[in-house]
Amino acid sequence: VTVALAQSRSGNRKIGDAATTYAAQVSCPRSCPFFDGGGCYAESGRLGVHTNRLNEAAAAEGVDAIQVALHEALAIAGMEVVLGRPMRLHTVGDCASDLAARIVSRAAEAYMDAGGGPVWTYTHAWREVERESWGRVSVLASCETAEDVALARERGYAPSIVVEEFADRRLYSQKNADLLQKDELRILPCPAQTRERVTCSSCRLCMDDAGILARGYAIGFELHGTPFTRRQALKALRTPDDPDRKLTSRELIPRFVAAYVVTHRRVPTRAEIARGLDLNRSSVNEMLASLTEAA
Ligand code: SF4
Repeated sequence: VTVALAQSRSGNRKIGDAATTYAAQVSCPRSCPFFDGGGCYAESGRLGVHTNRLNEAAAAEGVDAIQVALHEALAIAGMEVVLGRPMRLHTVGDCASDLAARIVSRAAEAYMDAGGGPVWTYTHAWREVERESWGRVSVLASCETAEDVALARERGYAPSIVVEEFADRRLYSQKNADLLQKDELRILPCPAQTRERVTCSSCRLCMDDAGILARGYAIGFELHGTPFTRRQALKALRTPDDPDRKLTSRELIPRFVAAYVVTHRRVPTRAEIARGLDLNRSSVNEMLASLTEAA
């Protein structure tokens, strides 16, 4: 069973010349707003296929997050070390407890000690896991709000933040109403998203979390992924507490139609469904066709 993988050269164009790991999502903290249909980029597209396989293997074997961390550590230990090549932990996956972070980061430190380059990662579990548990791994807290960024810094983490859209392509400040202007949020847009031909292995900013923390900015990521992932992620940013935000249009459309009939005493048009659910017309048409077929 493969519940975690290590690749000595990532196939991901953005990461560039770096090793990477993939871990089943049972390793992820449930507090991540993008988890399980909430807009996680690792759940869709080509990467989504790998993620599914890892998740299915983990479910079939009934492994827990610590067992996944142990598998990941073993996979790192068994991987070829290319001198100086950095490693990105968790193209998918995370470490949601101190123990898991210690297990994976010890293997990462052994990779560096064997001649590998710096190891870096991002975590949504920064509220629960002490920075110390990551040891010499450069780890950025994955944040969604200015308040998160301030909290993550207090906990000793360098922050990264997901934004709907960059206000600038270079370092910029975002006025921070939440924090009553006491702490201005400074965002450095990830150069791989703003410039051609930049990869993590050429940029290397995230490999130095101490430097990011000292310079006082957050690395910014603009929402990306498939249109579905982006739409879900947008809801995670705008309405994180909406209990329905992870429902698919297959679930939402029949519910919307039923509620509309009760209030308006007629069936909504396709345009009204699209407007009401903020979907495009063609996906409403497609979904209605497939629902009719299923019925
Ligand atoms: S800031 Fe640099 S190292 Fe960090 S994700 Fe973007 S390209 Fe990669």
